[in-house]
Amino acid sequence: MTLDMVCNFRKCRKSLSNQAWVTTCSHAFCIEHGKTEFKRNIDNTLTCPACGNELRDKFDVIQADLRPSETFKSIVLAGMKPDTIMDVAMRAMSFWSYQVEQETLYQESLAKHTREKVQCLEEINTLNTQKLKAELETCKRKISTLQTEFNKKRKHAEELAASLEDKTRKIQKLTFQLEAQKRKDIRVDNFERSSSNQEQCMDISDLVGNRATSEDFVFRPAKDTEDSHRMPTPKTPMFDFRNRKKPQSHFTFRPLPH
Ligand SMILES: [Zn+2]
Ligand SMILES: [Zn+2]
Repeated sequence: MTLDMVCNFRKCRKSLSNQAWVTTCSHAFCIEHGKTEFKRNIDNTLTCPACGNELRDKFDVIQADLRPSETFKSIVLAGMKPDTIMDVAMRAMSFWSYQVEQETLYQESLAKHTREKVQCLEEINTLNTQKLKAELETCKRKISTLQTEFNKKRKHAEELAASLEDKTRKIQKLTFQLEAQKRKDIRVDNFERSSSNQEQCMDISDLVGNRATSEDFVFRPAKDTEDSHRMPTPKTPMFDFRNRKKPQSHFTFRPLPH
């Protein structure tokens, strides 16, 4: 299987499989570019858009059928002498060889350009890889340093927590001892106050037993009259509270406002 030619117009490279414009300078073009580039002007001069050669003769550029019919194949060289037939065939093969050579050069150039681009990308990739490796090593060192610092801080925090726990236990122990001492002091104080009250009670008893006689306390009526020693009557009570002033209260009770 042979590959198709491609249009030789700049950056076109359209595949030529059925129809093409071909020139005696061995260039081929697609139908679109052939129509635009090979319009005969007044001077009847044309120029190949690929190589710049002048195409003066009417057979310097023709529209060729790349898939000729069997009839055309039978008749196109019919009647010619063998050397002419071979000459025509050799020129056609030369045209094809030139196209293959041009395509090979183009592909080699494209491959070279691609290799150079790949090589450039590989160099960039190598540089980026080295840069990333260096950054990675730096990050590893930073992580190691931070890990060491973190371990130190954690150890210090654990020591502080242990110290806090120990001090908390001491505070609880001292608080317990303080509460116990307070309860002990309260019991001693109550005991001393109780003892003092008993002594006072004993003094009062002594006072009552030794000093208080029936003559020290005399109950007298409100009116010391001659009738006071008589039995009281309903009209004349033993004690007169009528003129007694009612003690004034220090508190006044009022209803709550709504
Ligand atoms: Zn083209
Ligand atoms: Zn040309």
